[in-house]
Amino acid sequence: MIKENRNLKKHIDPNIQADIEAVSNLPMVSTLLEVICCTTGMGFAAIARVTEDRWVACSVRDEINFGIEAGGELQLETTICNEIRQSGKPVIIDDVLKDVFFCEHQTPAMYGFQSYISVPVFRKDGSFFGTLCAIDPKPANVSSSAITEMFNLFAKLISNHLTTFDQLAETESDLLQNQRTLKLQEYYNKELAAANKELADTQRSLQLSIKQLTDSKDKQAMLAAIIESSEDAIISKTLDGIITSWNQSAENLFGHTENEAIGKHITLVIPEDRRKEEQIIIEKIRNSQRIDHFETIRKTKSGAEIPISLTVSPIRNEEGQVIGASKIVRDISKQKHADEQLKNYAERLEILNSIGQTISAGLDTQSILQKVTDATTQLTGASFGAFFHNQVNEKGESYMLYTLSGAPREAFEKFGMKRDTAVFASIFNGEGIIRVDDITKDPKYEKNSPYTDMPEGYLPVISYLAVPITSKAGEVIGGLFFGHSKPAMFKKEHEQLVAGVAAQASVALDNAKLYEEVHVLNAKKDEFIGLASHELKTPVTSISGYLQIIKRNLSADDKNKAFISKALQQVNKLTTLISDLLDVSKIQTGKLPLSYTQFDMVDMLTEVTEMMQQSYNSHKIELQYNKQPILLRADHQRMEQVIINLITNAVKYSPGTDKVIIKAAVSGNKIKVSIQDFGIGIAKNQQERIFSRFYRVENLAAHMSGLGIGLYICHEIISRHKGKMWIESELGKGSTFFFELPIG
Ligand code: ADP
Repeated sequence: MIKENRNLKKHIDPNIQADIEAVSNLPMVSTLLEVICCTTGMGFAAIARVTEDRWVACSVRDEINFGIEAGGELQLETTICNEIRQSGKPVIIDDVLKDVFFCEHQTPAMYGFQSYISVPVFRKDGSFFGTLCAIDPKPANVSSSAITEMFNLFAKLISNHLTTFDQLAETESDLLQNQRTLKLQEYYNKELAAANKELADTQRSLQLSIKQLTDSKDKQAMLAAIIESSEDAIISKTLDGIITSWNQSAENLFGHTENEAIGKHITLVIPEDRRKEEQIIIEKIRNSQRIDHFETIRKTKSGAEIPISLTVSPIRNEEGQVIGASKIVRDISKQKHADEQLKNYAERLEILNSIGQTISAGLDTQSILQKVTDATTQLTGASFGAFFHNQVNEKGESYMLYTLSGAPREAFEKFGMKRDTAVFASIFNGEGIIRVDDITKDPKYEKNSPYTDMPEGYLPVISYLAVPITSKAGEVIGGLFFGHSKPAMFKKEHEQLVAGVAAQASVALDNAKLYEEVHVLNAKKDEFIGLASHELKTPVTSISGYLQIIKRNLSADDKNKAFISKALQQVNKLTTLISDLLDVSKIQTGKLPLSYTQFDMVDMLTEVTEMMQQSYNSHKIELQYNKQPILLRADHQRMEQVIINLITNAVKYSPGTDKVIIKAAVSGNKIKVSIQDFGIGIAKNQQERIFSRFYRVENLAAHMSGLGIGLYICHEIISRHKGKMWIESELGKGSTFFFELPIG
């Protein structure tokens, strides 16, 4: 029964454990318990810690095998110690059976003891610690004052000791506490420092991330704003070509809204015939390549095709893998248009320039008409162009010449002389330029337009442009007509371009007309000269013959003989003149005959010089040459004619001087002859023209008469001999005429 209540070891409270230790640490505790047992004769003595709810043995001397060890517990309610705790007074029982109070008490019966002594042990602060107690199954004399005194003393001793111990423990604990605090402090300091550092780091990185976050947010916002406000369309897509972003400019450019475009395939904006480009682009992007300013065509929502410049860059994920592409699309229609215009202007300028040169240089009406037609058709971009030109033939009848460009002549046969059609009439009636976007719909020309005049399917004319050509006198002399199979192809600028060319053409045609007239007149003049000189030649030859007969029949002293001689001289001059005129006419008609013989040029020069010297005594005609003969195959008489002509001129155009020098020399296989005078000379700007027919230097003195055909004939004769003739002259200093002929 007792055993059952012993050692009810509950979980030992750390405080009680400390108390147990404190008691066991009393150096004399075992001696103390031994003394108690010896002096009282009791078999079991203990120091117990008694709390409100527990009874725990702290130190035990058990000689009677009571069964409790240090740390062992008894149920509190079963002990008398609990009552001592409550009363604070000792309980002393010598013999339970004889004790009035305890004979009926459960505890002695429960634990089987008869003698019992227990005194309270208080701590220094007066709090209850427990008891110092002893029991024995036999009665004992414990109520003696000596025993109780001993127990009280021992209880005090324990109390003191506990206090000391407590203090020690307290001190120790204080110390420990201090140490701990110090350590803690140290630890905390360290921890704090680390924490502070960590905090600072965290704060810093937090700030950084906040900044980055703000920055990146700002950046993102900024980027988004840039993308949105960009004038270029910016589109992103996956590698499968699915559109993932679409900015405002993309919407403006292609017409699809963001909602319509996102999620769709990029072929949304790629024309059918350019789909292959997408594969090439994606392939490059997959290989991390960029595409820069690739010029191509894309289509808008409405189906219109627009020229664009494309820059495509790969989009990568955080690992650097290409996951899509961003496209910047720039609308280059304006640029293209400007380029086109610039090209057009340059082309037009070139055409205008070339046409200007050609038609101002050309004097042939037909070729001017053709050139103007070709050029203006090109300038207007017309499908065909035609130039109708009014002409008046020799009989004064008017007819129309026309040239075509861009269409075969048969196509125009019906178009021909349609002066009476409304369009033609308008042009030739001087109503000015006519430009119609769609002539088939224009009520004014509907009835008899060139379109309706055309055979079905032939030159379908929709756009129409007609520009009149007006002569200097203001008369419409022709018209340029252009057609195009599409409507509204001719613009104001085309009108102006053609009008510009038309003005030039008009001048050129006037010139051509004048030239043709001059040409006709010239031909008539040549015809007249030929005819007149031919008619003159016979009577002059007869006169010369009769004069010679008279001269021969006159006696030597006849005073009329001198007159006859003078008359013969004049008739000879006239003969030369007529013969020169006849030569000109022969040259003109290509009928100047040459008869080649071999002769010595030096001989001929000597003879002619001598003969000329006899006629002119005002000048010394000097022949400078090597005595070597120079053999030449040529028309002897024509050569003589050339040299006589040049010496005559040298004397005639060098009044007041007295020398003419003639030189002849061979160089290589050529003979070069020069006739030099020191006379009036010829200005540079006239030198080229003196070999032309009927040309005479301006402002010549009255006595220097002539027809201006001598040098022309000389030049022709030398040219016909495959030679060359030229002049070196300085005004006021004299002239040297050269000719060169091949020899051998
Ligand atoms: P013409 O002497 O009958 O006028 P030409 O054909 O012989 O015709 O000569 C053409 C022109 O060339 C002359 O009118 C004259 O003005 C110029 N001319 C020819 N020879 C000379 C010369 N030796 N010195 C200066 N002028 C000359």
